[in-house]
Amino acid sequence: LFFVAQGFDFFYFVQQWPGSYCDTDQSCCYPTTGKPASDFGIHGLWPNNNDGSYPSNCDPSNPFDQSKISDLVSRMQQNWPTLACPSNSGTTFWSHEWDKHGTCSESILDQHSYFKSALDLKENLDLLQILQSAGIQPDGGSYSLSSIKNAIKSAIGSTPWIECNTDNSGNSQLYQIYICVDTSGSNIIECPVTPTGKCSSNIQFPSF
Ligand code: 5GP
Ligand code: 5GP
Ligand code: 5GP
Repeated sequence: LFFVAQGFDFFYFVQQWPGSYCDTDQSCCYPTTGKPASDFGIHGLWPNNNDGSYPSNCDPSNPFDQSKISDLVSRMQQNWPTLACPSNSGTTFWSHEWDKHGTCSESILDQHSYFKSALDLKENLDLLQILQSAGIQPDGGSYSLSSIKNAIKSAIGSTPWIECNTDNSGNSQLYQIYICVDTSGSNIIECPVTPTGKCSSNIQFPSF
């Protein structure tokens, strides 16, 4: 063979706004390590194909093993907090992300490299700072979808995708931000394909 089959074309690097996870009908639980910072948190680094499809749960023989990332756990607790109930330290979320998504890029990024790549991306890409510098604050106010996208595009050079959800009063709000990354897990690229889903043209940015 003249190539190594890798089974995906790029990553979505997905961050979630905790205020928008928690103010929904489903509500949330803080991790056992305490209330997360008022900042975006990592959701995952997801292998994806250019046609919009994606692989999942690629290698049951290589399950999540926290002992492989023991040196990263304090960064994980800070930057990749879990908000699902019941409360736990984060292991359930990290394990789900590795097993579902991480195993599909294991030929390029082993467990340690996978989690370190996501942490490094987040720490080099301060989305909250980028938005705040453009006057977009998590203050419960309403902001145009285009102003949010333009602020991020101006700062990072690539167009993000915004996922919205609905708060418990029915308002469309900023829930997740998708940035596309090349198969090395370290370089931001223009998205080959965008996810689907609707936002209003003006969306709320709740506090946390
Ligand atoms: P939802 O159905 O809530 O949008 O997504 C549920 C889960 O499916 C996500 O947490 C993620 O694991 C996976 N998923 C949804 N959309 C995409 C996508 O476009 N690409 C990839 N790689 N995974 C996705
Ligand atoms: P996905 O399949 O969409 O990549 O991940 C969603 C899964 O992770 C769900 O089973 C969800 O319960 C769990 N999970 C644990 N903590 C969180 C969290 O903070 N945010 C989200 N979106 N899902 C979480
Ligand atoms: P356009 O490509 O003209 O910017 O947008 C086409 C459609 O996609 C419009 O309905 C627009 O509201 C929607 N759209 C554009 N960017 C995003 C985004 O980042 N997230 C979501 N959910 N919809 C978007």
